Order: sequence, then C-alpha cells, then structure tokens
Amino acid sequence: MTRVLDSYVQDAWWSPDDAADAVVVRDASTGAEVCRVSTAGLDLAAAVVHARTVGQRSLGALTFHQRALLLKQFALALTACKDELYALSAHTGATSRDNLSDIDGGLGVLFTYSSKGRRELPNAQVVVDGPAEPLAKDGSFLGRHVYTRLPGVAVQINAFNFPMWGALEKFAPAFLAGVPTIVKPATPTAYVAEAWVRILVESGLLPAGSLQLVSGAVPGLFDLLDLGDTVGFTGSAGTAERLRSQAKPGVRFTSETDSINASVLGPDATPDTPEFDAYVRQLLSELVTKAGQKCTAIRRAIVPEGVQPALATALAAKIAERVVVGDPRAEGVTMGPVVSTAQRDEVLRSVRALQDAGGRLVIGSTAPPDIRRADGTTGQAPDGAFLEPMVLAFDAAHAEAGAAVHEVEAFGPVTSVLGYRSLAEAADLVGRGGGSLVTSIATHDPAVAVELITRVGAYNGRVLVLDRDDARTSTGHGSPVPHLVHGGPGRAGGGEELGGIRAVLHYMQRTAVQGSPRMLTALTGVWHAGAEADATGTHPFRKPLTQLRLGDRIESAEREVTLDDIETFAAFTGDTFYAHMDEAAASANPFFPGRVAHGYLLVSWAAGLFVDPDPGPVLANYGLENLRFLTPVSPGDRIRVALTAKQITPRETDEYGEVRWDAVIRNDRDEVVAEYDVLTLVAKEWPPAAQEATA
Ligand code: NAP
Repeated sequence: MTRVLDSYVQDAWWSPDDAADAVVVRDASTGAEVCRVSTAGLDLAAAVVHARTVGQRSLGALTFHQRALLLKQFALALTACKDELYALSAHTGATSRDNLSDIDGGLGVLFTYSSKGRRELPNAQVVVDGPAEPLAKDGSFLGRHVYTRLPGVAVQINAFNFPMWGALEKFAPAFLAGVPTIVKPATPTAYVAEAWVRILVESGLLPAGSLQLVSGAVPGLFDLLDLGDTVGFTGSAGTAERLRSQAKPGVRFTSETDSINASVLGPDATPDTPEFDAYVRQLLSELVTKAGQKCTAIRRAIVPEGVQPALATALAAKIAERVVVGDPRAEGVTMGPVVSTAQRDEVLRSVRALQDAGGRLVIGSTAPPDIRRADGTTGQAPDGAFLEPMVLAFDAAHAEAGAAVHEVEAFGPVTSVLGYRSLAEAADLVGRGGGSLVTSIATHDPAVAVELITRVGAYNGRVLVLDRDDARTSTGHGSPVPHLVHGGPGRAGGGEELGGIRAVLHYMQRTAVQGSPRMLTALTGVWHAGAEADATGTHPFRKPLTQLRLGDRIESAEREVTLDDIETFAAFTGDTFYAHMDEAAASANPFFPGRVAHGYLLVSWAAGLFVDPDPGPVLANYGLENLRFLTPVSPGDRIRVALTAKQITPRETDEYGEVRWDAVIRNDRDEVVAEYDVLTLVAKEWPPAAQEATA
C-alpha cells in the first residue's frame, strides 16, 4: 500500500491510525496508485480552535507589510522546489504547459499579493475606506469607514483541477488580511496540495497557526464554524449549493463554481482577419490546456451564423498540427489525460447529454483514443483517463430552444459551437449560461466591443477583448490574473476570490466608525484635522522617522503676492493664461475677481515657506496628491502654509519610509486657498548609521 497522505493541523503533521477506509488516488495516465486519503480520527474542532487562537494571535502581531513580505518569502521557498512540484503534478495529468497555470500561477499570486500589499496597503493593521466624513460643523465629530480583520478562520474547500493556484489565490489575500487558513484540497489531487504545504512548513517561515491542511473529508465542519469565519468554496455548482445551505447565517460563504463560459467571434472577424486567427488559437488553447479542466475554459463558441464550418475546419487543422494526447511524462505530449477515469466517464456522459440536445460532433470522437505512453510507444491506455479534443456544433434552432448547451458543463476537452444572427442574439446566448466567470470577444471594431460588453457585462465576472493589437500579449481567456476579479455572478457562484486588494477585504469587516479626530487618528494611523498638532518643537524636516510623530507641524511665515510676482512667474514658465494676465478677461470669468496668482506659483511658494533646506532626513519629495485650489489669490493677498505629518509608513526592507504631509495654504483672511498631501521619503535614522560611525 502507498502512503496515506498527511494532514497538517495544530502546527504538526498528522496521519490516521486506521486507514482502512482511505480513498485510493491514482495516476491519471497509468492508473497506478499514488497515495491514499483519509481523515478518520482527525480532530477538526481542535484545528478550528487553533486557527482562531494561535493563528489569529501570530498574524495579529504583524502589519500588512510584514505579512506581504512573508508572502514573497513563501513564493521564493516554493520556487526553489518547483521541479519537485512539477514531477508530482504529472500524476494529475498535467503537462509542463499546464504547470504554468497551476504551479507558476500559484507563485505568481503570492508575488503579486506581496507587492500589492506593500504598495497599496498601509504598514498598519486596519484599512481605511474612502474619505473622512465631517459630521459636525466645528470638525469635532467625524465618520470614517474602516476595515478590521475577521476574528475567525478562513476555510477553503478546493476543486481538483488547481491544487496549488486554486488554494494560493485564497490563501494569499486571507494571510494578508491577517486571517489564518485551513485548506481542504479535493481528494483526487490532494498530494500536490500536501507537497506545497510541506515545503512551506519546512521553510520555517509560517507564523504559528496561520496555515493548516486537512487532506480528506471534513465531516461536521459546518457545525464548527460561526460568525467571523469564512468558507471559500471552489468546485461544482451542485456541491456549492449543498454546502451553502449548511453554513450558519454568520459564516461568509463564497463560491467559485463551474460556468458555461462563452467566446464570441465578432461579425467583423471574418476568416481572413487576424482576429479570426487569434480566436481559433485561443479556442485551441482553452480546449487543450489542462485537458479542458478549467472552470474558465470556453464551453460555447458563439460565432456569426454561417461561419461554423470555417471555424471547424480551421480548428481541426490546428488540432491536427499541435495536439499530441498522452502521458505528460512522454516527450512531445501537449494534452494529458483528465484527472481520473471517473472524471473521464463523467465527461463522456456530458458529451452524450449535449448530443441528445442536438449537438453534432464535428471534431473528435468519444472512442478511447490512441495515446503516447511515457515510454514513447503509442496505443490504447484503458487505465488512463484519456480523451480526444471534442467539438460539437449546434444549429440555431437548437440554440433558440434553450438546450443543454447552456447548462451542461463537460469538464474536459469539450466545446460547442453556436451561430448567432445579431449582436443582441449573441449577447442573449451568452446570458443563457446563467452567469459566467468570463466571456471573450474577438473583434477589431470598438462599436461591436462596446455593444457586447454593455450587454454581457452583467452576466460575467471578467470580459476579455481579443484583437490584432493584443493577441500576442493577451493573458488569455482562461487565465484569471491576481490583479483582477476572478469569480462571476449566478451559476458561477457569485464569489470574487481574486481582485487585488478587494480580495483581501473579503477577509475583513467594514465598519463605519464615528468619533473625534483624535480617536480616528489613533485608530487609523492617519492624522485627522482637529487632532493634536505640535508646531512648537524642532522643524519636522529635521526629524528622522524614529522621531517624527503624527501631528508634528510647521506653520510658516506669511508671504505677500504682488502683480510683479504673477507676471514674473508667467514669463518664466510661459503660463500666460488670461486669468493671470488680462484684468478685463479675468473679471469676466465667473470664478475670479480679476487677475489672480497661478495655483502652481502658490504651491511652489508654499514649498519655499515650509522647507528646511539643509541636508537632513527628508530624502526626496515624490509627489502631491489630492491637490485642490479653493480660493483665488489676488495681488496684495498674503499667504501662509501649515504642513502636518499625516501618515508615517516605515519600509520593512529599506532604511527609509514614506511620510505623507497634510498641507493647507491660507490667505490673510484665514480662508483656505489650497489643500493637498505632500509625499516624501524620509530616513529612519539621521545621520544614517554609517555616517555616524565615521563621524
Ligand atoms: P466538486 O466535486 O464540487 O468538489 C469540490 C470540493 O468540494 C472538493 O474539495 C470536495 O472534496 C469538496 N466536497 C465535496 N463534498 C463536500 C462536503 N460534503 N463537505 C465539504 N467538502 C466537500 O468539484 P471538483 O470535481 O473537485 O472540481 C470540478 C468543478 O470545479 C468543475 O465543475 C469546475 O468548473 C469547478 N471549478 C470552478 C472554479 C472557479 O474558480 N469557479 C475553479 C476550479 C474548478 P473531495 O474531493 O474530498 O470530495
């Protein structure tokens, strides 16, 4: 007997004492036993408690940036063991090209979240959402939306087709949010999940309790979960519905399920266009990659009526040229088997259902194919889960009848071709999938793209427009990217697993917090106007990050604006806009009393008013944000500026960090002339440690 797969719970490896009832998992190509899976006797309740206590505590001790840096280190540790993961993945039927989506795709998710976490989240523990809302005239009472992490465990239940990427796309945002994860992989490929978890455990990088793995069934799981816990399910729509009904009301249950995705060929993309070629290449790729076992694969190719035969001919030629079905360990194989013989039989059942609904097999057959074996020989492989690429054609009448083509997911190398007579009909056919993860549109005509996107957007989580300009660089119909939403409405489950920082917020609760500026400053780490500010001490530009405090301020002297200054600035910069140069024209403008100073002159002067010019801890000014000119400044007015340290973000990996300053320019009537944030890089120590040693 091969080994029984371990689980990793309570920061230790666990295996069952009695594996008599273990499920046998077999190699997809040869049918040889790979491992057995059982959780008989596993204390799931203890794992949940461990996540909620130990995992929450260890992740709670870290900031977003510290967690983000760990994600990068996880990615590097896994990268170092990529070959081991590839070799294991071959048992699932994955070719080296398929590994790019699961193994390399998983690493890509970790790297992306690491970088996004450090660029888009504060080096803190809460996320603010939107601007502060003033709720009292004197500024003493404000409201602000703030995200704090959920106090429970993120349980993820995954599909068999992406044992690494599918888990990491949920783990990365949960980890970044500060919520510990329990991974429950699908049984047929659980050994790949066990391998990447083992690599992370052996790296010694995982904070205690932050990641646990349950290799096998999870009976009673939903009784253990409560308010503050999440379940992220990926799998078939049927299983999702069953599990959703078991979750208590307080448990956030999101699902990413199967979807009958579409790809529309625009009416302009006739067979002699680059768009037609790109469409055919994409269709081939979606048919063959992972032997069609992708939730995002194209199940319906929707093409202008009459183009079906040309499409079938072009696709058949490409398949003949490029597709070699066989054991992924054999040289030259481009399409492996599906994951198991049970899955193969399930796909054949679905193909028969599509045929019963009027589909004609125009490419491929349901007969067992001759395949290339690992030793290079060719022939039948009854113990392997091999299928040929299969394409079914439906005529318009059947499409109109609302046949199974919109409902049956043949989760293998299978796609159906349908004709449409108008864009409205094409969009209607897309919508009949009942909600999809993705639709792609091949067109070079912006009017076609806009009409289709506005009609099908509501039915899709993602829409990809393919044309001659992006065909070479497109990431592809079937490849979700961590920056953008992956999920879809209706049948697709309604989830949004990926989507950049949006995905992190799924593991956090948004709360409207009301209080004084002082309280909101303490909570958010962002200084709010009205909170304490100190303009009495050392100039804040003399303070390194270790000494600078929120509210440290410089209040400048006044400077008078003269007509001479305005004309000099106009001549120097070339900005002779009439509002600065022509009294009559400026007075006729509804916003100006007469000639006024340039806004950029005032901002430049403000810098001159607040700066401390000597070399010091302020290393650079890297921009302004949220600049608004609120009151025009006329010759004779006097301006002054107040600059207050608003947000201090030390970098984890550098000797400096970002400081955001609140800048307010006022005139001598105390009216606000301009407001903005000044962004600077400031050294953590000054003089820097090395200079100090030499001094
Ligand atoms: P599945 O049969 O629905 O199983 C999905 C997961 O649910 C597996 O981990 C399975 O574990 C688990 N499960 C089943 N019954 C359970 C229960 N009572 N309690 C807890 N967990 C339970 O789907 P699959 O065959 O693995 O995956 C293929 C399907 O996933 C396809 O339909 C595909 O479209 C979809 N999919 C969707 C996405 C997406 O992002 N939308 C991505 C990938 C795949 P066991 O394996 O141990 O039974």
